[in-house]
Amino acid sequence: MAANIIRGVCGLAWVGGLYLGIRNGIVASPLSNNVNVIPRNSDGKEGYYEYANRMAKAIGINKEIIVIKGDEFCHYGNNLFSTRAGIQIPLDQNLPDLIVRHMIIHELVHIKCSDTLTWTFIPLIGSIFFIVMSKARFSGYGLVGVIAGLLAYRDLHKWREKQACLSAIKHSSPEMNTECLKWLEGQKDDDSSFRERCITFFLNTFNPSSHEMISYYKAHLAQKV
Ligand SMILES: [Zn+2]
Repeated sequence: MAANIIRGVCGLAWVGGLYLGIRNGIVASPLSNNVNVIPRNSDGKEGYYEYANRMAKAIGINKEIIVIKGDEFCHYGNNLFSTRAGIQIPLDQNLPDLIVRHMIIHELVHIKCSDTLTWTFIPLIGSIFFIVMSKARFSGYGLVGVIAGLLAYRDLHKWREKQACLSAIKHSSPEMNTECLKWLEGQKDDDSSFRERCITFFLNTFNPSSHEMISYYKAHLAQKV
């Protein structure tokens, strides 16, 4: 019974991870026929579409970047396999323009480094490898595989987020970095409800802490003075 439940959890984790990796990383399906795509600017001024494509070229991405309005910052497609790539930006949160532009660079770095593939497929392969290796030795081999996959995902995701943060800081102006530092310092963990505590726990497990991120901005801004 327990072994079957563990196998089920394992299977669901693999299928879920594979689905997200293929959907967001390889096929980039949210970019197709999306009504929230931000169009090119016809008046010659630089909007978010033009800015994202200019910055993509500057950091060495040789493909069109599609920009979509959504409810969070994220990216679709990567530099290896997909023919297009995209960035989602939350325009209805009234974030300052400098922060949106900084976060566009952050998402472009993820695309450039194919981070969706790194944090999806390496944990999956690691998980399968551990299950095969431990099958002969432990009765709870499925659990070993799930834990190995989760630990690999946690460490890879944290590492890639840190690198994207540092690269975005490097490619941003001091004004953009100052604005982001203010934004981070103004964000307080809302631990008032069980749901908020769960979200905070999840974010802190799979991302650098806000304390760490603040230190990256401060260190870079101090160098520039
Ligand atoms: Zn990121």
